[in-house]
Amino acid sequence: MRKNIVAGNWKMNTTLPEGVALAKAVNAALCGVTPKCDVIIAVPFTHLAPVNDVIDNSKLGLGAENCADHRSGAYTGEVSAPMVASTGAKYVILGHSERRQYYGETSEILKEKVNLALENGLTPIFCIGEVLEERENGTFFDVVKAQIEEALFDLSAEDFSKLILAYEPVWAIGTGKTATDDQAEEMHAYIRGVIEGKYGNEVAENTSILYGGSCKPSNAKALFAKPNVDGGLIGGASLDAESFMGIVTAFE
Ligand code: PEP
Repeated sequence: MRKNIVAGNWKMNTTLPEGVALAKAVNAALCGVTPKCDVIIAVPFTHLAPVNDVIDNSKLGLGAENCADHRSGAYTGEVSAPMVASTGAKYVILGHSERRQYYGETSEILKEKVNLALENGLTPIFCIGEVLEERENGTFFDVVKAQIEEALFDLSAEDFSKLILAYEPVWAIGTGKTATDDQAEEMHAYIRGVIEGKYGNEVAENTSILYGGSCKPSNAKALFAKPNVDGGLIGGASLDAESFMGIVTAFE
């Protein structure tokens, strides 16, 4: 059966001391509770190894927010999947809309990143989602389907089964404007159908599909109650241990 997951995406926030303190606070809040979901924090590259040292990996998974589309070599400033894995991180966010929008990440590039992440034992949290114009002009299903097909459908069923997907309508990210739980459920069910069409029912049913976009303690419960919403990818609200825990504990 697929897992429920709540994953924080810290983006480019927190200095190293601040990040270590935040990780410690989340880790401490998880001690003594048994959440009904896996909990992950995705942190800046500089924070990976020090954060890994202060968390209990059996309670809190660690991920990067990106990795390079090359294994190694003359790519100044890049951080490879093997480097990420060597810190103890187990996850990597790939295809976030901010990477697609500001850094020109295409499906071709993302395909390479997904392959390298999997080769290095990292679980990709692969983001998909339409922009406002596509929501308004009604092309959102086609857009999301193309994002999945182009970057992921060359994978074997075995490799595809290792992925976590995150549906993040771009118009809802950091805007305070959340998709309604019905809009999220509609898209998640659609995505599961797209996966089923390619890999069959078992793979589709076992794929965790997270919702991302202004998710907070006040709306998480309604979103997570939907049958095809398996948790959340959380930006802003993951920067405060209390609000992040308010989302972690939203699973009934
Ligand atoms: C995100 O960036 O993945 C995200 C969902 O951000 P926010 O929760 O701040 O909308």
